[in-house]
Amino acid sequence: MENLPLARATVDPDAVARTRPGLVTDLAADPGTRVVLVRQGRVATKDGALDLRAPADVTGATWDPERLAYLGRDESGRYLALTLPETLGEERDLDGVPVQEDAALVSLVEGLEFSHLRDVGDVLPDRDAGLATTAVSLAAWHARHPRCPRCGEVTEVIDAGWVRRCTADRSLHYPRTDPAVIMAVTDAEDRILLGHAAHWPDRRFSTLAGYVEPGESVETAVRREVAEEVGIAVGQVEFVASQPWPFPASLMLGFRARVADGAAAEVRVDGVEISAARFFTRAALGEAVQEREVLLPTRSSIALALIEDWFGGSLR
Ligand SMILES: [Zn+2]
Repeated sequence: MENLPLARATVDPDAVARTRPGLVTDLAADPGTRVVLVRQGRVATKDGALDLRAPADVTGATWDPERLAYLGRDESGRYLALTLPETLGEERDLDGVPVQEDAALVSLVEGLEFSHLRDVGDVLPDRDAGLATTAVSLAAWHARHPRCPRCGEVTEVIDAGWVRRCTADRSLHYPRTDPAVIMAVTDAEDRILLGHAAHWPDRRFSTLAGYVEPGESVETAVRREVAEEVGIAVGQVEFVASQPWPFPASLMLGFRARVADGAAAEVRVDGVEISAARFFTRAALGEAVQEREVLLPTRSSIALALIEDWFGGSLR
């Protein structure tokens, strides 16, 4: 299972350059730089690709290193992510009048299209999918980690957007990625187990998934999650592929898993996380999808890739 939608990065991350003092300021002054704009977890897009901008085209941007991240380089240049303020264009003074200081940037941004990676992750070209995934991941991490987890003081961004440093105790903090397992569980008849999470829209079914807990191997996490959510014992577990899922910070590790030999393939949902689950034959799932009795996850997800890998073709 190759070329998962969000695992197609082609740009050289050029990590050694990140510590160079003044790098992001140089990038912002270089007309060859291409800027990825991030706003509220979305990226600027146009015609199914990233809407990359030269710095001079991002009228009104202040190029504050707190909002910038160096994404790397390729033969066509270097890439910089600019995360726009969450409230851009929404700030009002005490009389309810829009704050005008950033008027040029607001007017630029209002003319752009911003897309969620869940929706466009599969249509973006390889390079853009990689750039967008990194840009959105870093933006989500910065937004959630403004303060030092040790002392609570404010942290500042260093190393071209890749490290935060505490202004009081100088401790360094790095972007987080939380490993999660996601598994296509099959039984002795090669039927696939799909579940419906309690908080999902009606008829949505997908593979089971969950976070790896401290002290666990990923294989243990697969067995524990399946046992907890649907009461089924899993035997053989085989890693298939992975992709980042930055909503906000997951790394999805995809597995094929088999119901343990001799174990009953009888589903007993936990009723909390999972409210329904059942095994499907290929024919039954194909028909349920056709009749829209089952709605499968988005094309950007590894879940759909795992289901289609089992199914042997396209389902959605
Ligand atoms: Zn601190």
